[in-house]
Amino acid sequence: MDSSIVTGTRPSAVAGLIGGLASSGVRVVDLTTPLSADTPTLELPQPFANLIDFSLEEVSAYNEPGPFWKHHNIHTGEHIGTHLDAPVHWATGREGKDVAGIEPGRLVGPALVLDVSAEVESNPDFLLETRHIRDWEAEHGELPDGGWLLVRTGWESRSGSRQEFLNNDANGMPHSPGLTVECAQWIARESRLSGIGVETVGIDAGAAGGQEPPFPAHHYLLGNDKYGITSLRNLAELPPVGAVVVVAPLPIVGGTGSPARVFALVDGPNAQ
Ligand code: MN
Repeated sequence: MDSSIVTGTRPSAVAGLIGGLASSGVRVVDLTTPLSADTPTLELPQPFANLIDFSLEEVSAYNEPGPFWKHHNIHTGEHIGTHLDAPVHWATGREGKDVAGIEPGRLVGPALVLDVSAEVESNPDFLLETRHIRDWEAEHGELPDGGWLLVRTGWESRSGSRQEFLNNDANGMPHSPGLTVECAQWIARESRLSGIGVETVGIDAGAAGGQEPPFPAHHYLLGNDKYGITSLRNLAELPPVGAVVVVAPLPIVGGTGSPARVFALVDGPNAQ
């Protein structure tokens, strides 16, 4: 064994990671959508109430209110941009954890990338089925404990346009990919995943209000202590297996979710 990754008598896994970062053996990939007033966000139909978008409010900018510094108030809904859904977000998880209560160990884990971008290209209402996950497992191995299933749909390519990202039809109905009821149940009850990550504005399909139960990914995952992350980017840079994902929401006490920074660690040179 390489003595540089041994401390005392035990090999240090973290030392190996540090060595990888320093020697360009570990690359850090940012999976986060930049957060601004232009970030595409969910628009609920009437009569439901919407969150506010993200915005910055200037308090001082090296001027009279603060001559040596610049700082802002931030205004934002919880479920804005790349964000995490905590169990208490959904009625089925109302007795569950708020975003501050999620153990950090659940927020770091193996990233499993399932690519259905070809299916979504021809059908924006595509719903992931358990058989797609089973096919993936046949090729790459069983989904590991504490993993995050990251569903690559190619939706990221629409993120420059709110209209294309939400993809509402003439009746205001959004069309974007999601999960079948059966797949949401399987992930929630049978898998050992910590959660799922998606490129779209929410973890359910755009038309999921018409599924039974409505919004099955929210219904089953959040009701079974699984979590969701949304509006991910750069999933194309990840291998199907072998990456680690780091999900970092703000620990908002009582919060049902939070904008999050999401990184992946993959083999390869770090661009810094
Ligand atoms: Mn959400």
